Amino acid sequence: MTDTTFITASPGTTSARAVGAPAADAPLEGLVIERRATGPSDVRIDIRFCGICHSDIHFARGEWGEIPYPAVPGHEIAGVVTEVGSEVTRFSPGDRVGVGCMVNSCLECENCKAGNEQYCIPGNTQTYGSVDRDGTITYGGYSDHVVVDEDFVVRIPDGLELDAAAPLLCAGITTYSPLRHWNAGPGKHVAVVGLGGLGHMAVKIAHAMGADVTVLSQSLRKQEDGLRLGADAYYATSDDATFTELAGRFDLIVNTVSAGIDIGRFLTLLKTDGTLVNVGAPPEPLPVLAFPLILQRRSFAGSAIGSIRETQEMLDFCAEHGISADIEVISADQVNEAWERVLNSDVRYRFVIDNSSL
Ligand code: NAP
Ligand code: ZN
Repeated sequence: MTDTTFITASPGTTSARAVGAPAADAPLEGLVIERRATGPSDVRIDIRFCGICHSDIHFARGEWGEIPYPAVPGHEIAGVVTEVGSEVTRFSPGDRVGVGCMVNSCLECENCKAGNEQYCIPGNTQTYGSVDRDGTITYGGYSDHVVVDEDFVVRIPDGLELDAAAPLLCAGITTYSPLRHWNAGPGKHVAVVGLGGLGHMAVKIAHAMGADVTVLSQSLRKQEDGLRLGADAYYATSDDATFTELAGRFDLIVNTVSAGIDIGRFLTLLKTDGTLVNVGAPPEPLPVLAFPLILQRRSFAGSAIGSIRETQEMLDFCAEHGISADIEVISADQVNEAWERVLNSDVRYRFVIDNSSL
């Protein structure tokens, strides 16, 4: 891509080639951003691959609210350490590492102390679009390198290829965390709504945990894939008979849909005491009626990514079970096209940028 935007560098910082959005309604373009100098507890990472999450699109297009531009998305980062700060103990140059959706947190609140920094009470520092500790705006993984505090870096096990491991840093952990929290496993019936990036990881992980897995997709178009990924059953939500046939069937439903849907309808598919956990983050409201909740003591919940400890646990779990994302690797100049395909639910099942093409 051609460079169009330059941000003035300060002493000690480095320039990174990146792809980002100059405005909410503009296509992504090549730009140059600034990365901080490697601090004592920092790890400098040569980004090899970065997955494309639907959140990148919600964010860069301002669907979740106003953001600073230019915006450089990307929070499914897989790369190799090139430099470490003087106080870094866990990483060395040459290590294969990952960075997900957050790069810092207060480390002092109740949740951070309990190891749940994703729920940091004053708010964690997101990998992109957040104000960092030094007052600068964070830029994500659609770039050639990044500098991150070692506490927010995880190790990618040898058994996982870097390109197919990149999506685990968001899609993997965002589905693993609620599946673990709500005890997906043998004897449990789990449904996954939406077979996109998050959905396909939810199917693979829930299957590996030993649960009986059902995909609830808009149509039967991807049925063969769903069954290959590990689903035991596959239904179209466009067919009203699905809701009659599956009434009261599931212990847990994970909704990964990126758009506002009639979520209340899915509550009737839960057993007594079942939980519908929402991980999809559409800007539109998700309407829920009281009665399907009250009558069978059902729960409607939400879940955000996972902690750093849990992210490492998920990567180790995936390596142990031979799980990674089904990916389509693209070059940096294909990102706009890939975003359009994500918006059309035409992704099988994660686009991953080859960052050497930047
Ligand atoms: P994605 O790859 O685009 O997948 C979304 C899937 O939802 C699509 O493949 C499609 O599946 C279904 N879908 C899309 N539009 C729909 C519509 N209008 N009606 C019904 N179904 C529809 O997106 P993703 O990257 O997996 O992300 C999914 C959502 O999770 C996004 O909103 C993202 O921001 C959010 N997210 C949340 C967290 C968190 O921490 N909670 C983390 C990451 C992402 P079918 O074709 O199978 O129907
Ligand atoms: Zn994401």
